Amino acid sequence: MEAINYYSTNLKAPTVSFREALLNGQAPDRGLYMPDRIPGLATGLLKAFSGMAYPEMAFSVLKAFLKDEVPPGVLKKLVSDAYDYPVPLEHVVDRKYVMRLDRGPTASFKDFAARMMGRLMNHFLEQEKRELLILTATSGDTGSAIANAFYGLDNIRVLILFPENEVTVRQRKQMTTLGNNVDVVAVNGKFDDCQAMVKRAFADKELAGLNLSSANSINIGRLLPQAVYYFYAWSQLRKDLEDQPVFVIPSGNFGDMMGGMIAWRMGLPVKKMVIAVNENDAFPVFLQTGQYNKIVPSKNCISSAMNVGHPSNLARLVALYGGVMDEQGNIREMPDMQAMNRDLTAISVNDDETKRCIAHAWHQHRLLLEPHGAVGWAGLDHYAGKPQHDGKGLYVVLETAHPAKFPEHIQEILGFDPELPSSLQGLEDKDEEYGYLQHNYDHFRQYMLDLYR
Ligand SMILES: *Cc1c(COP(=O)(O)O)cnc(C)c1O
Repeated sequence: MEAINYYSTNLKAPTVSFREALLNGQAPDRGLYMPDRIPGLATGLLKAFSGMAYPEMAFSVLKAFLKDEVPPGVLKKLVSDAYDYPVPLEHVVDRKYVMRLDRGPTASFKDFAARMMGRLMNHFLEQEKRELLILTATSGDTGSAIANAFYGLDNIRVLILFPENEVTVRQRKQMTTLGNNVDVVAVNGKFDDCQAMVKRAFADKELAGLNLSSANSINIGRLLPQAVYYFYAWSQLRKDLEDQPVFVIPSGNFGDMMGGMIAWRMGLPVKKMVIAVNENDAFPVFLQTGQYNKIVPSKNCISSAMNVGHPSNLARLVALYGGVMDEQGNIREMPDMQAMNRDLTAISVNDDETKRCIAHAWHQHRLLLEPHGAVGWAGLDHYAGKPQHDGKGLYVVLETAHPAKFPEHIQEILGFDPELPSSLQGLEDKDEEYGYLQHNYDHFRQYMLDLYR
């Protein structure tokens, strides 16, 4: 079988290998890299998944894409290193389950993607005897996910800028207590100031020697690992090989759901993908009307990681259905809307309903959800409650963060503080180390030159 190449969704850039797509991040025509062929998994392998642990399954799924570029022995080591935490499937009622993707080091499902991307990058850099400096600005959660994902990797250093007064103490400590290859700097300014300094640094010729790179969220290296947990849920919960789950995915930039779509095209049995969004409903409207209008500015909902007016991975979904959407959200070629509507349902859930869902799930089922997962569970209620759908079928809702990351909402709605997961315990007692900078680009540049040149 021919090697898999990666094309740009804007169709105006050369196709590249996985290694290049991973290290470039974005295609030169500003499109997103997509595999030109999605490898199918043999029925025998799907069958064998039921007896496999998560890392072993991750190896099998990723090998289908990477076998020409990453030696099996190396890949095996990377997945067992990346996936050393549990993936609980919590039974709720009937055949309805919640898959908790919140047991990684930062208690967010983004750990699944970021940890694998970091390790794959490190592998290729090691081969080329190269080093990268990942530079990123954060308002809290992205920084900790990146810091933890890249922590301890030999060929990558990480520098994170955060606005001194805009992150919580817990968020800060998740970054500043690591040390090793992770450097953190507080800036006397706002998030936008940090972001602006990072952007200037990328364009600064004087810093070219530092090999700056970003850990972009649209990197193909973050997408492929997200196919694995869909296989995992199915293999653990299925009655037989024909058992088709409905997956319900709380979505913002659509990276999570694209992982599911890739799994489906690889041969995973799926009945439907239900895309649950908050009040940022550009996609549900598009599915119904064929008209795509970004939400500008995006609406602020309590499921804050999903406050996205134009999902950055939507161009990939459109590509999967034969269409072309550019990075601005303009549709150059319509996708097959009929096929899309057959496979997907999209549901918008507002804040009131999200809060009611958190209360109801707890009081009715002793199911503890945070706002993002609650958008998912509310989406399941909408979908499975319709008379034409089989309410007794197999349903899996993805919970994307740990409730302890949103204690103020849980406290307000349920009246108690969720227990901290082990990954977030003991932070108070650890020593912090971080630098401090005025909001001044020249100081920042000198700081970087002193530290890394
Ligand atoms: C990032 C994030 C999402 C949205 O995931 P996408 O892949 O962007 O759709 C949902 N929930 C939480 C907690 C997140 O951090």
